[in-house]
Amino acid sequence: MMKTLIRGTRFGRTVRRNAKRYLYNVRYRKVLQASDFPPEVWIENTNCCNARCVMCPRDKHTRPQGIMDFSTYARLIEEIALYKDAVKRIHLHNYGEPLLDKDLPRKVKFAKEKGIRHTYFVTNAAALTPAMSRDLIEAGLDEFKISFYGTDRETYNSTMRGLDFGTTINNVKDFFRVRAELGVSKPRVIIQYLPQESNKGRTDDFTAIFKDVIGKDSGDSMSIFSLHDFGEGGKNDPWGDDICSICNYPWRTMVILHDGRVVLCCLDYNGVQTMGDVKKNSISEIWNSSAYTKAREDFKKLDYNGYPFCMKCELIR
Ligand code: SF4
Ligand code: SF4
Repeated sequence: MMKTLIRGTRFGRTVRRNAKRYLYNVRYRKVLQASDFPPEVWIENTNCCNARCVMCPRDKHTRPQGIMDFSTYARLIEEIALYKDAVKRIHLHNYGEPLLDKDLPRKVKFAKEKGIRHTYFVTNAAALTPAMSRDLIEAGLDEFKISFYGTDRETYNSTMRGLDFGTTINNVKDFFRVRAELGVSKPRVIIQYLPQESNKGRTDDFTAIFKDVIGKDSGDSMSIFSLHDFGEGGKNDPWGDDICSICNYPWRTMVILHDGRVVLCCLDYNGVQTMGDVKKNSISEIWNSSAYTKAREDFKKLDYNGYPFCMKCELIR
């Protein structure tokens, strides 16, 4: 109780920030070591989407929309395969709905054939037809997450605008049926809820819907997520703008947009902080470039001035 009270006050926030700034960061600077290759690679197969979720800045998303061509994708996978022991997983999505790419099962299959350890994506499941489910399972997909932000037609349709509760829930149930028919346990599934005003925060209802749908023997799970702000100026942070954290993105993840440009992180939905272009350089060259080296040095100093998107990010506050 006392802990909650302190955490919820301005005093509590100040204590937490100073602990981060003077204790955690000091240790963290030593721990963070640049690797030769990104431990995790996000490949945006498409930035198109079939939804207009209330919390998503789709209306501010101005960069051209498209799908990564298979030859660019294959070249990336062939390079990642050279470092497959060092790469923990690849995300086959970034800012968009990955199932709108009809080549997705082929892309998953190609990655698995090349020995990539873990393939993963996040989807709204509106296009997860039984045929798509079967293709993805047979392609060898390891894991995926379903964003499911409502508990009935009213709350779902008004949160995940453009999608239909009945269609998506049937798709989700069909996926589990198809996986059982095929007698396999993979891919593992996480179903995620995001309590907020538009869906009335009905976490218990969400749990009740899915607890008997998921397959516990497969390691499936449910997750309750907190809203982040897509770098839009800390609007979920009521206490202002004091930067206190080292963001570890430049050490742990590379995000490649569908057109080949590399950005510092997945929150940069318009691709303003470009670090390179895989159509001009390899992943390894970009990861070890002066741009990434400088970002690591700057971030360790909590100096985000050269990174306008980061300056507005709540995750370092
Ligand atoms: S499904 Fe994802 S990308 Fe599409 S509108 Fe919703 S949050 Fe945004
Ligand atoms: S500080 Fe925020 S916007 Fe910048 S790289 Fe980290 S998570 Fe992304």
